[in-house]
Amino acid sequence: MSRITIVGGGLVGGLLAVFLAKRGHAVKVFDRRGDPRRTDVYAGRSINLVVSHRGWTALRAAGVEEAVRAITVPVYARMTHDRDGRLNRVPYSIDNRAIFSVSRGELNRRLLSEAEKLPNVELHFDHKCVDVDLHTGECVFEHGGERVLEEADVVFGSDGAFSAVRQKMMLGRFTYSQEYIEHDYKEIAFPANADGTPKMDPHCLHIWPRRFFMMMGLANQDGGFTGTLFMPNTHTDQAPGFDVVRTGEQARRFFGEHFPDAIPIAPDIVDQYLRNPQSSLVIIRCAPWQVNGRVALIGDAAHAIVPFYGEGMNAGYEDCKVLNDLLNEYGDDNWAEVLTRYAAERKPNGDAIADLSLRNFVEMRDLVADPKFLLRKKIEGHLQQRHPDKWLPLYSQVKFSDIAYKDAWKEGLRHDRIMEEVLAIPGIEEKWESAEVVKRVMGMLEATV
Ligand SMILES: Cc1cc2nc3c(=O)[nH]c(=O)nc-3n(C[C@H](O)[C@H](O)[C@H](O)COP(=O)(O)OP(=O)(O)OC[C@H]3O[C@@H](n4cnc5c(N)ncnc54)[C@H](O)[C@@H]3O)c2cc1C
Repeated sequence: MSRITIVGGGLVGGLLAVFLAKRGHAVKVFDRRGDPRRTDVYAGRSINLVVSHRGWTALRAAGVEEAVRAITVPVYARMTHDRDGRLNRVPYSIDNRAIFSVSRGELNRRLLSEAEKLPNVELHFDHKCVDVDLHTGECVFEHGGERVLEEADVVFGSDGAFSAVRQKMMLGRFTYSQEYIEHDYKEIAFPANADGTPKMDPHCLHIWPRRFFMMMGLANQDGGFTGTLFMPNTHTDQAPGFDVVRTGEQARRFFGEHFPDAIPIAPDIVDQYLRNPQSSLVIIRCAPWQVNGRVALIGDAAHAIVPFYGEGMNAGYEDCKVLNDLLNEYGDDNWAEVLTRYAAERKPNGDAIADLSLRNFVEMRDLVADPKFLLRKKIEGHLQQRHPDKWLPLYSQVKFSDIAYKDAWKEGLRHDRIMEEVLAIPGIEEKWESAEVVKRVMGMLEATV
């Protein structure tokens, strides 16, 4: 049994606590915020997330799948909204598989409660980590104006994109990069009808792709939706930016021009736009993810990514599952070995999902409205139907499988090259379902193994 300190009781810290406590370790979780089950720490930031296959694999392994499933809404397709309000439904898979919408706050509260049920877990809120001794595992927290010292055998930094644990690691031999993308985001809530029914299909992820910016909406269990507007901070010749949509009049014009069908769904959309904060999006890559077999990073602290694949948390949950598997393999008293292997296995996957997520941004804001892209999706679905063992579209590899992100990324690039050739076949629009096209793709697959 080891004494474990988890710095950060967010989405990943909560699940990690469950995994490690179920193995018999004495787990203490410290979070700088108040207890989200008692105070509204998410006020004004009600982001919805999607849980997908990898997330479920980890939640199941930790024994909390059902507790989480109860607070989710299944989502089977993308529903695009064009400027004239025309809808187009594109299923996520040929076999009706779903991703699951969940409120960030609800999920956080649920996992903390699951962790707290275990006798060997202690939760400490309003404890801000200000220092970690990377050799001894002693952490220093600020709590009510006091400094609290906490000894541990192993420390996990699950304290998010701006991790204090990582900051301490950065004082040593540490590689780090931080990149802000040009797009920021703002939340828009779409309420349910007065009788509680949803105003849009709740089993779709709604996207308003506008080439250089976009809005999306995910269902809540109460019939409403949480929308997110992604837009450059600074406008260009091609696109508006948050910098030029500042006044009520500018916002009215902006939504009227680009998202007219969203206005009846959220009549106060302009007020919300003016009231809600504008947040930025950052990509963080770093190495190593562990030092001295004693202190390790997990979740966003190790790999903050842009949210366009909806995989940040799922990747963090997969980190937890991989760590648990390594503990099964190498034992619970062999932390140096386990953490070294954990970092070696997960770092390339963290980098791959960062790249994949940037790529999916282009797909969501731009390509989903492009006829060529839609044709490609149809061809890929057809190929998968004919040869499920040979062709699994990239989206399915990322969202509906446990294939390592780094392998999915490599395979996705190979698919791109093949599809480029296929889409260039004269008359492909008419013959995409033909045996000739399928045969040609299978030939290309074999030639490029
Ligand atoms: C707009 C948006 C949409 C997203 N959608 C999805 C999605 O659909 N699916 C998905 O999988 N992911 C999504 N993500 C990503 C997801 O939110 C993150 O990957 C996830 O929250 C990471 O969890 P975490 O526990 O590592 O970090 P966090 O959730 O950030 O939690 C970190 C915790 O550490 C605490 N903390 C911070 N500093 C300290 C300190 N010094 N001392 C003590 N405690 C500290 C914080 O209070 C917090 O509780 C989205 C992100 C954004 C921004």
